[in-house]
Amino acid sequence: MLSVICESPGVLRAEERDLPVRGDGEVLMRVSRVGICGTDLHIFTGSQPYLEYPRVMGHELSAVVVEADADSGFAAGDGVYVMPYLSCGHCVACRQGKTNCCVNIQVLGVHRDGALTEYLSVPAQFVHKAQGVSLDQAAMLEFLAIGAHAVRRADVSPGQRVLVVGAGPIGMAAMIFAGLRGATVVCLDTRADRLEFCRSQLSVEATVAVGPDDAAQLASLTDGEFFDVVFDATGNIDAMNRGFAFVAHGGKYTLISIVPGQVTFSDPEFHKRETTLLASRNATAADFETVLEAMRAGRIPDQALNTHRMRLAEVPDAFPRLLEPGQTVVKALVEC
Ligand SMILES: [Zn+2]
Ligand SMILES: [Zn+2]
Repeated sequence: MLSVICESPGVLRAEERDLPVRGDGEVLMRVSRVGICGTDLHIFTGSQPYLEYPRVMGHELSAVVVEADADSGFAAGDGVYVMPYLSCGHCVACRQGKTNCCVNIQVLGVHRDGALTEYLSVPAQFVHKAQGVSLDQAAMLEFLAIGAHAVRRADVSPGQRVLVVGAGPIGMAAMIFAGLRGATVVCLDTRADRLEFCRSQLSVEATVAVGPDDAAQLASLTDGEFFDVVFDATGNIDAMNRGFAFVAHGGKYTLISIVPGQVTFSDPEFHKRETTLLASRNATAADFETVLEAMRAGRIPDQALNTHRMRLAEVPDAFPRLLEPGQTVVKALVEC
């Protein structure tokens, strides 16, 4: 089967590999679509700190079942999506139902080989039927679920003012689900094309470009009170540190980003607001369900989000171009 391997930073190669052998309790699938995400771009550029090369990337996928145990509930031909965070089921986090931050987590395409290939075998508990959505849509569930998880973590409620800093796909997902909860959403980013996309496709209330007067603009949008909930989805330490100042008194700050570094803030400023600080990592099965429901109801602009497409064999040549800002990529899908 054709597989695309990231040999080392900057080097992608297509090669033939043996078909995976289905283990006990696993579902063997033919991969249909794979979404390319910031994580993959970081793996490719070598800025994913704990990754061992070579690696087959790809953790956002839809597939069609080839073979499964008779009692698994799956039959050949079922359209499925995969929750790529393989959790252990017995650690302190898993025992609390927080499989998204499992101590022993193995993420497909990061800790073990992922979906940029033709066939994949995964334990059945991480495979779910993609009922009522297309295989394109099913491959877009994962990044949307990360946004849905963050919004659930922050318990966004109707009428709240929400600021999302960072208008990449994850930030956009947070905007969508905060909006679906009835919040008024503003986004802040450096890129004019991304802000324009948020205005036209995600019906945010306002967009602000990062610049010398951005804080003044955010203040004037909120009568000087700033935001009940601020999400950071920038992956930029300076932006993460700066975001504390955009939280209203009594508000919450949710960091979806992860960076190798120290987050710092002024304690008097933090304390006087009684800021709630949250991290938001990955997503759980419940978040995937939230996204599926919204998708089935036609409330996700998934066709607009899917800006680029390529076939598996084209990935080694086409992938590097996704890094060019001029390409205005939101979500690229690979057809396997
Ligand atoms: Zn992803
Ligand atoms: Zn665990």
